[in-house]
Amino acid sequence: MINIVLFGKPGAGKGTQAEFLKEKYNLTHLSTGDIFRYNIKNNTELGQLAKSYMDQGDLVPDAVTIQMLQSEVDQNPDSAGFLFDGFPRTIAQAEALDAFLTTKGQSITATVALEANDEILVQRLLERGKTSGRPDDQDEEKIRNRYQEYNEKTAPLMDFYKAQGKFHAVDGIGAIAEITERLSAVIDSL
Ligand code: ADP
Repeated sequence: MINIVLFGKPGAGKGTQAEFLKEKYNLTHLSTGDIFRYNIKNNTELGQLAKSYMDQGDLVPDAVTIQMLQSEVDQNPDSAGFLFDGFPRTIAQAEALDAFLTTKGQSITATVALEANDEILVQRLLERGKTSGRPDDQDEEKIRNRYQEYNEKTAPLMDFYKAQGKFHAVDGIGAIAEITERLSAVIDSL
């Protein structure tokens, strides 16, 4: 069983690459952003709670996110492994994930980061905002706020996973297929 954390700043291409990797390695793809958006679309209690944070580009509170993620993992008991996309995003989430997986006799195999320059990413998100309909993609101030959230709360996870010897980074700039190859090379070497 392999459990991979796909790591990277907003717009780095995690969702795009996850679509390829989940097929190639037979992994269950869990994107917290997608799950929140699904709940917002269906106007669930969870969606109503998450919406105000997401629309501003703030992180949804840890307690809510952690509980949701655990329930998604529990709904896939026969999974051959998970591809976590957009989770963990804080040290508290990473610690909770480790503790939760331990209770199942499992662990994170590796974290693979997609690296890219902020200015390129902001432009990508503004482009995506023209068609995605996502309120958090349409306003440069909200996008900048997501980067601030990333720098303050998510970037420290690199050291968290480095300390466990589990952090790998690949260049996230290039053709989609090339980047899939780079990620696959890391996963194949695990
Ligand atoms: P992106 O990586 O492009 O910002 P996502 O779809 O992964 O997009 O996330 C969109 C929003 O969903 C985040 O800005 C945040 O509000 C919320 N969100 C997603 N994952 C988490 C998480 N692990 N913890 C807290 N909030 C999250």
